[in-house]
Amino acid sequence: MRKKIIAGNWKMNANPTEATALAKRLIEAGVESDYADVVFCVPAIDIPAVVGAVKGTGVAVGGQNVHFKPSGAYTGEISADMLTDAGARYVIIGHSERRQYFGETDETVNLRLAAALAGGLIPIVCVGESLGQRERGVTIELVRSQVKTAFGGVSAEDAAKTIIAYEPIWAIGTGRVATAEQAQDVCAAIRTVIGELYGSGVADSVRVQYGGSVARDNAAELFGQPDIDGGLVGGASLKEDFVNITNYKARKG
Ligand code: PEP
Repeated sequence: MRKKIIAGNWKMNANPTEATALAKRLIEAGVESDYADVVFCVPAIDIPAVVGAVKGTGVAVGGQNVHFKPSGAYTGEISADMLTDAGARYVIIGHSERRQYFGETDETVNLRLAAALAGGLIPIVCVGESLGQRERGVTIELVRSQVKTAFGGVSAEDAAKTIIAYEPIWAIGTGRVATAEQAQDVCAAIRTVIGELYGSGVADSVRVQYGGSVARDNAAELFGQPDIDGGLVGGASLKEDFVNITNYKARKG
């Protein structure tokens, strides 16, 4: 039985002082969950502060990007070792905003995934289609290809630890959420391609999240789908109401 995992993507929000206060407010409001792993993926500079703020709780901390080299002349980048030493356990890779604004491709996602795994991080690999691609009916084909390229050279053991987030670009930050059926169909297709690459054991254990305008009122239906193992949550993870997403089965308010 796969445990759900619900991760907040804080994007480029909150300085270290604000991040500490936000993490503490979320903990106090009851963000921990009996049935889901909870992760705050925060700006790199906030990691030490947030790790301190969640100490002693079940909440884990993640970064939002990782470079594929261990060190060197890569101004502005951050290595897996830097993230783990600061206390991060997870890292988001290939978010659509990284693809759109910072030139990430399926190939750089593959390199970053390898570096994250080698560095002992649990990666959250993002895939998903644009509105035009959905309208052209190429969603499944595209997502299958994104997964195949991202996982090139990754062992079965490492693949089983990796989390895949299906994030339709048209649903991110738009308030336009995929229907539970649309999300389930693509998450099932992702599990199928993982099965083709690694066999049914890995396909059964890999966790596949949905992301894109997840909110308190749609979380239970989305996360109740058989192939959806939780969510990657942007905007709604910055508010205390996030506790009602991590506790979607029995909301707290
Ligand atoms: C995201 O940033 O990964 C995301 C899904 O954002 P939002 O929940 O705001 O749509």
